[in-house]
Amino acid sequence: MPSIIKALDETVVNKIAAGEIIVGPVNALKEMMENSIDAGASTVDILVRDGGLKVLQVTDNGSGINKNDLPVLCERFTTSKLTAFEDLRSIQTYGFRGEALASISHIARVTVTTKTQDEACAWKVSYAAGKMVGSPKPTAGRDGTVILVEDLFYNVHSRLRSLRSSNEEFAKILDCVGRYAINASHIGFSCKKFGEAQFALAVKATSTTRERIRTVFGRTVAENLVELNIAENSEIGVSGRGQVSNLNFVSKKSGSPVLFINNRLVTCDPLRRVLYQVYGSYLAKGNKPFIFLSLSIRPDLVDVNVHPTKQEVRFLHDEEIIGLVANQLEDALASEDTSRSFKTTS
Ligand code: ADP
Ligand code: MG
Repeated sequence: MPSIIKALDETVVNKIAAGEIIVGPVNALKEMMENSIDAGASTVDILVRDGGLKVLQVTDNGSGINKNDLPVLCERFTTSKLTAFEDLRSIQTYGFRGEALASISHIARVTVTTKTQDEACAWKVSYAAGKMVGSPKPTAGRDGTVILVEDLFYNVHSRLRSLRSSNEEFAKILDCVGRYAINASHIGFSCKKFGEAQFALAVKATSTTRERIRTVFGRTVAENLVELNIAENSEIGVSGRGQVSNLNFVSKKSGSPVLFINNRLVTCDPLRRVLYQVYGSYLAKGNKPFIFLSLSIRPDLVDVNVHPTKQEVRFLHDEEIIGLVANQLEDALASEDTSRSFKTTS
């Protein structure tokens, strides 16, 4: 009998892997935004055409990329951020696997323009399927990096067909940028649709958290916030900060909480459920709170490498941590409640 198990072609492997990390335009955007933040940028400007399928461009004023590093930039598992597996425990950057740009370059056309402080000019080069196309050309440019992604999924027809309308993809992008803008301090963000004069979102680097929330979620939310401060608890290795809606805030919209753990945008269903329960005893039925929470959990207690898109985070002492956050919220809302009833009765 002939053998039927054969090794996959490398290009097939790369395309499959890319599809797991880059599920839609928003995943590519998130990876690029995180790279800009990792590069120390204080402004991140995003341009989107056709929901990110035609054009997705991220411009930052970060460190830039050394010209010598450009040849391997889009190769798989090339990174400037991690060398030993043990370093994962204390990793401070978003990136560590060197997979994002490689993945994107397998399913889109990528052009990078970058300039470090030491260079007299910027360098521009394109990539296809992980490899540089030609050699970098000198060009005018400011310190920092522009990554232009065009024709995302041009070679993955099934994925193109399964995506929603460009408006819906744009809405996801805008939501993601907004969440990052709220959590970041000292970083400005802008997001614009190609061909439109107005920004869909613009946050200054100097904006406070409250101002960021106002820009992203509107006045009513921003005027009805209570601050949460979770003092460091060394026993379970957690501390945190947050802004949550007070009891005057009335909204039927149920957006998911803006939750960051160690500056990573994550979802955590058990935590969300418990926080909603706490609100449940105060809010009229059907009313939804706004929750922004940024937790720091000791890096060695968190496993960030659970999921290809890094969206899911596991951590030790989860029940204690969730309990602690719920208590803080309970206290904050209860004191709101007493001061409120005090005001109305006196
Ligand atoms: P990772 O972030 O896991 O290292 P990426 O594929 O996202 O992998 O990026 C590969 C490398 O390219 C990074 O380690 C970094 O050195 C460089 N890089 C990517 N984007 C930028 C950027 N905007 N500014 C500076 N360097 C960048
Ligand atoms: Mg990265």
